[in-house]
Amino acid sequence: MTDRKEEIAANLADVEERIAAACAAAGRGREEVTLIVVTKTFPASDVRILSELGVRHVAENRDQDAAPKAAECADLPLEWHFVGQLQTNKVRSVVGYADFVQSVDRSRLVTALSKEAVRTGRELGCLIQVALDADEPVAGGGRGERGGVAPGGVAELAGLVAGAEGLRLDGLMTVAPLAGEYAGRQQAAFERLMLLSTDLRAAHPAANMVSAGMSADLEQAVAAGATHVRVGSAVLGVRSRLG
Ligand SMILES: *Cc1c(COP(=O)(O)O)cnc(C)c1O
Repeated sequence: MTDRKEEIAANLADVEERIAAACAAAGRGREEVTLIVVTKTFPASDVRILSELGVRHVAENRDQDAAPKAAECADLPLEWHFVGQLQTNKVRSVVGYADFVQSVDRSRLVTALSKEAVRTGRELGCLIQVALDADEPVAGGGRGERGGVAPGGVAELAGLVAGAEGLRLDGLMTVAPLAGEYAGRQQAAFERLMLLSTDLRAAHPAANMVSAGMSADLEQAVAAGATHVRVGSAVLGVRSRLG
């Protein structure tokens, strides 16, 4: 093994151990939680190593970075998740490689994703990104600092996705807020997301993905009931530039 492959393998083993321990502590089966490795800012060669080590889900947050990487790795049996704020002018590119867009947070984006999925004959998995730090002056109101729709806007947006051709409503995603009532309270934030997921599944039973938790807070996410954790730096190392 190369040094890099050994390093990633060791990190992956540590993260796997953390997820397994968190599942055990929560009385959940290990198979209830899927690891998504966030590969943003890291090269395609790392993605290839991850695939060789058995990783099946990777995530990216910037199309400029992701598109060439996905193209270089098109031969690998990977599912690509787009998790960043998405401008409508990037939709065509992203739908070209993404299996899931986890950051659906406004109706214009739903329209654009649907149009492109239909044009290319694909079915795209969509998660609604929830901003737990968005103020809710009116139902369906605010947007979060780092993208996402306020909790009050989830139901309406979910309905739009569910009714859009070419899109499949798969669930909810959040990033633990740095500000507001949930700052420093990741577990409470993730429990709130789970309540929103329960509401969502009442209307859309198949939309059962709950994507929450990163390197620093994956234990809290698993404890709250997350089905997918998105882990970057704990597997690949500290990012050299802002991701
Ligand atoms: C970067 C990123 C992650 C992973 O963060 P780490 O702290 O490196 O594990 C997860 N989710 C999103 C949306 C991200 O942008």
